[in-house]
Amino acid sequence: MITAYHDPGFAAPIGEQHVMPMRKFQLVADGVASWPSVRVEAPRALDPAALRRVHTDAYIEAVRTGVPRELAESQKFPWSPALWPSLLLTNGGVLAAAERALVDGVSAAVASGFHHAHADHGEGFCTFNGLVVAAEALRAAGRVKTVAVLDLDLHYGNGTASLCAGRPWLFNCSIYGNDYWHNKPYKDVEHRRHSDGPNHVSYALANGSGRAELLDALARGTGELLAWGRPDLLIYQAGADPYREDPYSPLNLDHADLRERDRVVFAFAKRERIPTAWVLAGGYTPDVKKVVDVHLGTFEAAVSVYG
Ligand SMILES: [Zn+2]
Repeated sequence: MITAYHDPGFAAPIGEQHVMPMRKFQLVADGVASWPSVRVEAPRALDPAALRRVHTDAYIEAVRTGVPRELAESQKFPWSPALWPSLLLTNGGVLAAAERALVDGVSAAVASGFHHAHADHGEGFCTFNGLVVAAEALRAAGRVKTVAVLDLDLHYGNGTASLCAGRPWLFNCSIYGNDYWHNKPYKDVEHRRHSDGPNHVSYALANGSGRAELLDALARGTGELLAWGRPDLLIYQAGADPYREDPYSPLNLDHADLRERDRVVFAFAKRERIPTAWVLAGGYTPDVKKVVDVHLGTFEAAVSVYG
């Protein structure tokens, strides 16, 4: 049985015209609700104190109060008083999935919007870095010593990489087809790509890359991860935006390719006995059903591996 954490309050009130399709979370949760192998549960809201292990007080206060507005909206969401409680729920969802993964081996948070968030500001629809917030909370509770993030969103996980500094116990591997820099996406990795650090590595996928290139990068990335050290927990960013019809994607990946990506990730984690929690990450194809189908494919892959 795979537990997936979802709450209708995950959807931040940013309006239906925003490029970020907030309704996808409910659609994914509804999509798996009747599966015999998946149980959907509501998480507890995150204790705001957990944010302070990762984010500056000034930034947290800006998001809570809306002042200063520019900082509160640095992730490119319109601020409203309802934003703060929705963020405590989504970040609570990641923590709940991470905790559950330590017990069950695998779990999901039907939430997204984490890997571009920096300590002192948000970027790219990511307000707080729930990946690192959950990792820090479990470290503080003595549940884990080391955590790795495997980031297969289309975009480079620049926020998580920045948070690797000063956290030698954290490893980030980002396999990406778009760079992300100073709150802007760069569609062509030939023109801009990130440099790596001692505990963060990245693999840029050239325009037009398909299944073979992705799986090759994934084999190298998971090899680097094991060379760093087998983590106590893996958090997997199972992005839907590498999909070939996504407006940001220069890659040639269809639903079957992405489901195979997910199967390979879960098979790796199971083989290496690394507890794994996954989150949905990005996905902007205008036909939201195609985004939802990528995320349901991740559930199918998890069920096929974990049974
Ligand atoms: Zn993305």
